[in-house]
Amino acid sequence: MNFIDQIIEEDIRQGKNDAKVHTRFPPEPNGYLHIGHAKSICLNFGMAKKYNGLCNLRFDDTNPVKEDTEYVDSIKEDIQWLGFQWAAEYYASDYFDQLYIWAEQLIQEGLAYVDDSTQEEISKNRGVPTAPGIESPYRNRSVEENLDLFRRMRAGEFPDGSRVLRAKIDMASPNMHFRDPIMYRILHATHHRTGDKWCIYPMYDFAHGQSDSIEGITHSICTLEFEVHRPLYDWFCEALRIHHPQQIEFARLNMTYTIMSKRKMLQLVKEHHVNGWDDPRMPTICGLRRRGYTAESIRNFAEAVGVAKRDNIIDVSLLDFCAREHLNKVATRTMTVLDPVKLIIDNYPEDQVEEMEAVNNPEDPNAGTRKVPFAKELWIERADFRENADKKFYRLSIDREVRLKYAYIIKCTHIVKDDAGNITEIHCTYDPNTRSGMPDSNRKVKATIHWASVKHAKKAEIRIFDRLFAVPDPDNCEEGKTFLDNLNPESLKIQEGWVEPGLTLEKVMDTKYYQFERLGYFYADPDSTEEKLVFNKTVSLKQ
Ligand code: ATP
Ligand code: MG
Repeated sequence: MNFIDQIIEEDIRQGKNDAKVHTRFPPEPNGYLHIGHAKSICLNFGMAKKYNGLCNLRFDDTNPVKEDTEYVDSIKEDIQWLGFQWAAEYYASDYFDQLYIWAEQLIQEGLAYVDDSTQEEISKNRGVPTAPGIESPYRNRSVEENLDLFRRMRAGEFPDGSRVLRAKIDMASPNMHFRDPIMYRILHATHHRTGDKWCIYPMYDFAHGQSDSIEGITHSICTLEFEVHRPLYDWFCEALRIHHPQQIEFARLNMTYTIMSKRKMLQLVKEHHVNGWDDPRMPTICGLRRRGYTAESIRNFAEAVGVAKRDNIIDVSLLDFCAREHLNKVATRTMTVLDPVKLIIDNYPEDQVEEMEAVNNPEDPNAGTRKVPFAKELWIERADFRENADKKFYRLSIDREVRLKYAYIIKCTHIVKDDAGNITEIHCTYDPNTRSGMPDSNRKVKATIHWASVKHAKKAEIRIFDRLFAVPDPDNCEEGKTFLDNLNPESLKIQEGWVEPGLTLEKVMDTKYYQFERLGYFYADPDSTEEKLVFNKTVSLKQ
């Protein structure tokens, strides 16, 4: 049980909020969601589920300049893919009328004023935490003058940035957020939902708590950077005498070799460092999905990370661990050869083809079996043969035996090389009695290797990813450098692979999650066509 559970259970015990739990996930639709948001989603929706409550989806769309419906759609898709459904879908912009009424109310009560100071003057006069700030010369305007100016701000009479509405709280407060925070600014911009109806927009602090309040949110869970905003959150709820949700902060998720900022992700996309928001190297939810992480593995990761009160950095290998653990249970096994060298079975009949029965998933008896064609000429991995093998190398070498998975034991006889000394053919003989069901099928050899029939296998494109960043903390840069200087230039390698002929476009798009035996987990990429399948490597089989 984490500390948020404890707070909620105590509230329920005391009958607070009629013992109900109502949370929300409040993204700003200014980019795609990343794995950090997934943590917040799992927490908010998870708490609601655990305590038989509800969780809203609320778009925090108070900044028209950066927001877009493209982002709204992607956010909804990602939440649903993660396995959650919101009780209701709301927009902070739905509350612009109410927020405006509340702003006038605070003006009427002498708790807000219109300030004509410039941005620079306002920040300068706010001062530093150790010394009181300087009160604005406009601070003591009359209610009438404030109301008149605020209404004219709304009516569009003033240019952007010329005036703001500020709460009149305490210019000497040690909490900088209390030094007359800005409530409204003038912004002549078209909003993705309200169009040109408004040219003044509420600031986060004047919108968030009130939106929570309107929706009857009980526990407003957010990340630690909002801890210093909490007194203000409380102040507005009290000043307006409205339902007062409890804001609870937890540590945001940070992960090694990753950046977790929409602004930086946007830069990666816009400057073509990656191929879009859903590039499998991206920390976005859609990128992780396309990489082949399952929703369940991301949920398990969020659970494993836990809920902390202090900032920390999670090792990205934990996410890979969670992926392997789930994919091992669900991924369909298949044999693919990625770095092929030709194996010729000299004593195998020239035109014979046998259909070998292969197990689709040893972890799942219901997954059944499939047939894989076997013939005289096969592709095997170059790394599974070694000319000068030492004692520790158990795979194929001259005069040594291995088992070809689901087929026979073979013994290497000789190899053929080209002029440059590269091995072009490996010759072997097979023992017909070692096929499954035959008398010697249980004969033990030290290694089993996978294969693909040269005549039958299909060529596919295999995308192998490395970390997008070369260093564990990409945001930590030297003078004059940016996180972009920490990009890993080798993060994408495109290879060819030989896949089983049974993998049709229709089938792989349906199955999606594969384990290429002995190589790792792979995901069927939507770029796949009838002519060419494309797979993304999700993770290797082992750390
Ligand atoms: P960014 O800095 O990437 O723009 P943000 O915090 O501005 O992120 P929002 O859309 O405001 O993004 O976030 C929606 C919710 O997700 C907020 O409640 C926020 O606290 C939470 N969140 C964002 N990033 C993380 C993270 N790394 N870990 C946990 N929760 C996060
Ligand atoms: Mg934000």
